[in-house]
Amino acid sequence: MGRVLVIEDNQDNFDLLADAFEQEHTMIHAKDGTSGLNEAQTCDPDVILLDIALPEVDGLELARRIKNNPHMQHVPVIALTAHAMKGDRVRCLSSGCDDYVAKPIRIGQLREILDGYLSRQDVVASQA
Ligand code: MN
Repeated sequence: MGRVLVIEDNQDNFDLLADAFEQEHTMIHAKDGTSGLNEAQTCDPDVILLDIALPEVDGLELARRIKNNPHMQHVPVIALTAHAMKGDRVRCLSSGCDDYVAKPIRIGQLREILDGYLSRQDVVASQA
């Protein structure tokens, strides 16, 4: 169980993720970069799923801002991107994203990645 902030401008894509994961996690939605950054600071997410093609502030810039902010930089950011092109992974990771998933999203693959980050936090918490 975790708090997952989804920064995604496409409602259908968010609905797909919410349907898949809302039994397991609290799913929070932000539809653009500005509200996404605001939610990232206020909703205390355990993981951020970040669409790269966003209006206003794009996902790569948002990832940089999150990772440059001492209050947010510990939160894992998983990039979601439609342009599954060579170089995309590198661009996402060099902008500060911790991981990368190409659209169309495969729920099983994303679940494994999410569970990996969330269980890592459980381990850290139980050792504290
Ligand atoms: Mn988009």
